[in-house]
Amino acid sequence: MHETIRRVTSGASRPIDSVALLAVSKTFGAEAVLEAITAGQSAFGENYLQEALEKMRAVDAGLDAGLDAGVGGINRAAHIEWHFIGPIQSNKTRPIAEHFDWVHTIEREKIAQRLSDQRPPNLPPLNVCLQVNISGEATKSGVSPENALAVAHAIAAMPRLTLRGLMAIPEPTADSVLQRAAFRQVKALFVQLQESGLSLDTLSMGMSADLEAAIAEGATIVRIGSAIFGQRDYS
Ligand SMILES: *Cc1c(COP(=O)(O)O)cnc(C)c1O
Repeated sequence: MHETIRRVTSGASRPIDSVALLAVSKTFGAEAVLEAITAGQSAFGENYLQEALEKMRAVDAGLDAGLDAGVGGINRAAHIEWHFIGPIQSNKTRPIAEHFDWVHTIEREKIAQRLSDQRPPNLPPLNVCLQVNISGEATKSGVSPENALAVAHAIAAMPRLTLRGLMAIPEPTADSVLQRAAFRQVKALFVQLQESGLSLDTLSMGMSADLEAAIAEGATIVRIGSAIFGQRDYS
């Protein structure tokens, strides 16, 4: 996957290290995460809180055991980053604020305020992205492009959050022209927010099926699950 990202990134005439890989490990166990860590991956995305908390504990235990056993490829200093990328209910914000490094799926000021209030003082500010609903479907998550400016400025002012940028999941389509058009709209909104005075560096967009279009249009984080871990089994 790193090889694919490097190829697509240089094909888009972008610096080779300008796109980070978030490995989406939802539904896969701690063993799969530990294997990816041994292969050099350090950032993981999770959608379901309970599953994520259990996996974090198991991964920590696995890392400790691996280090004690002198398993190669695991660097004691390497920090594993956990990114929350699922829908957030307001009664679940505290454990998210306590256990994650990033949250990509902020779509309401109220949720952001709770995360800021609940971020433990001994941890650095929580990195967050505002999720935007570029396709405008009624059922889709995210703020509308019209509301993004006001919500982004409100979040940027919250003391225990660092607003890093935008996240989007455009309507799925196999047509790469349509994929690129949607990602281009997200990028345009991102530039508009930057020009309004916000210091942003992250565009979280692109999944297994549309990562090439996302990278071509400026993604800085691609969130890849099935292309790394295989098909998910929800049964
Ligand atoms: C599951 C998920 C992904 C990964 O999707 P794949 O198609 O498996 O790459 C990325 N982003 C979000 C928000 C997800 O829920």
